[in-house]
Amino acid sequence: MSEREELAADLVAHGRFLADLDTVGVVWPPNGSAAAPTVQQAVEAASVPSGDRAAALAAVRANLGDCQRCRLAGGRKTIVFGQGNPEAELMFVGEGPGADEDEQGLAFVGRAGQLLTDIIEKGMKLRRADVWIGNVIKCRPPQNRNPEPDEILACQPFLEAQIRAIRPRVLVGLGKFGAHWLLKTAEPITRLRGRVGYYEGIPVMPTYHPAYLLRNPAGKKDVWEDMKEVLRLLGRPVPGESD
Ligand code: URA
Repeated sequence: MSEREELAADLVAHGRFLADLDTVGVVWPPNGSAAAPTVQQAVEAASVPSGDRAAALAAVRANLGDCQRCRLAGGRKTIVFGQGNPEAELMFVGEGPGADEDEQGLAFVGRAGQLLTDIIEKGMKLRRADVWIGNVIKCRPPQNRNPEPDEILACQPFLEAQIRAIRPRVLVGLGKFGAHWLLKTAEPITRLRGRVGYYEGIPVMPTYHPAYLLRNPAGKKDVWEDMKEVLRLLGRPVPGESD
């Protein structure tokens, strides 16, 4: 495919993504509750200029409250806000909580989470506690189905606010949902991965989701290449290259 054709394909994919969002008929708030001002508050919380990232994040969490903005509220046990170091230079964005996460209220604590921990700690030689790990949606969908576009939109202001609060130097989009949300594209993850894009000026590395790697271990090689590039973007030593 020529560069021109590739650009055209990207534009078509982006248009389709926007059209999808447009056609879902998002109702805000969904049941006429007083949710709308809360979104405004979330946006304000995101622009806290003090540099106090922990306080900004706490404000976002307070605004989220006992969220009832979409149908997922009815089936969840816990809101999974995400966790890690509010001063993190590196932030991972996954899809949404599974059963373990819903139970514990923490992102990426099941089998996929264990693999993500290994990628961060054994592979990248970073501490999981030093990065931030969150998701596109904060409540578990029933039967772990994919998030619906209106559910993603309902959660959107809060992830936007989290990113603005943390202001990481590099973002990693895990799998289709994390990568599409950050890059505002519907391009397949197989084509996206490994190519750095941008979210509000922050470099984004799209890569495969750890749950995919559990089913397709051959993809780990690609993810390792992507994580090495992330370390280079951060100016950190790349294991195996710098020594
Ligand atoms: N998968 C995700 O995308 N997020 C989690 O928190 C757990 C599994």
